[in-house]
Amino acid sequence: MKPAYNCFCFAVPSKLFRKLAEKAGEDEGKRLNSHIEHSTRLRTQRHVCSKQGVVPRTVQSPQSFMPAQAYRRSIFNAGTDTDLPGKPVRHEGDKPIRDRAVNRVYDNTGIALNFYHQVFGRESLDDRSMRVESAVHFGKNFANAMWTGEQMVYGDGDENVGGFTEALDIIAHELTHGVIQHMIPGGLGVVKLARKDREFEEQTHALQGQAGALNESFADVMGSMVKQWHARQTVTQANWLLGENMLAPQHGLAIRSLKDPGNRKLTWYDDDQIKTMEQYLDGADVHDSSGIPNHAFYLAAKKMGGFSWEKAGLIWYGAFAKLKPRASFLDAARATCAAAESRFGSKSKEYLAVHSAWQAVKVIT
Ligand SMILES: [Zn+2]
Repeated sequence: MKPAYNCFCFAVPSKLFRKLAEKAGEDEGKRLNSHIEHSTRLRTQRHVCSKQGVVPRTVQSPQSFMPAQAYRRSIFNAGTDTDLPGKPVRHEGDKPIRDRAVNRVYDNTGIALNFYHQVFGRESLDDRSMRVESAVHFGKNFANAMWTGEQMVYGDGDENVGGFTEALDIIAHELTHGVIQHMIPGGLGVVKLARKDREFEEQTHALQGQAGALNESFADVMGSMVKQWHARQTVTQANWLLGENMLAPQHGLAIRSLKDPGNRKLTWYDDDQIKTMEQYLDGADVHDSSGIPNHAFYLAAKKMGGFSWEKAGLIWYGAFAKLKPRASFLDAARATCAAAESRFGSKSKEYLAVHSAWQAVKVIT
């Protein structure tokens, strides 16, 4: 089934490539922009699964009384072309194949889906065990990962940015865009995009405004939590970086920091993420303004202590599920405060942690 819209959410904001291109010489600059140029050729072919006779594997044999699988993964190989979804190469339950990117995406997607299942009781993106499709080896040296509204797509990267299939938090981030798409009817901050503003022909929608930044932030928050959950890290043990070891060392160490958004020593040399409403400008890139709710989550989780997913994560998940498509930061602050209050009480440490976090980023007074 086609989604209502094709909202492309890139792991690495286009701005980062533009900045690298500005810094680089002319030839290098041209090449850096090529991920955008060649990607306009993206073509999608749907229903590959049904054509190739791939059947859902939820049917249990009489001997097996395992609970129904909460999700089904399918990995496709785009073979450095831009046809999607590509050739099916590994399905749920299949043994690893001789392709590291395929196996890493299979495993990391499984960790993220397990996190949603075990922590929130969510069954796949739509909470109805839908098949989760990912394509690897997309394009020639395509240096990005994305959620297309239908599936996750990973390029092999180039000498500036790479390692997308290795990065659990990036994979969980992209997968979370799929969760939000199903969780909030109409999406969160999704707007129709003019043809001239598209990076891909098929990219009909994009994220904008505070609601779009909340969508980005939720994907970062969940991405960071999946990483912490997998490593069993407490809020103090975690480094709260997103997309570590993906940039070439001369560009920086990570894509974003939830602990200190915009701290270029922790992230990359021109990181413009903001962390309080004093820095907020209407029309800013959603990957920049997402720093505000990102930092609010970090502060709340830090104050509660322990594991982020046990309290702060539950509060955020429950509250975001109730947001409207055009929600503001203030709406998110109110929703998370209300969720903390109903779960833990109005005098609880958890409620106070959430309230003071939104105060610190100056969304509420
Ligand atoms: Zn994103």
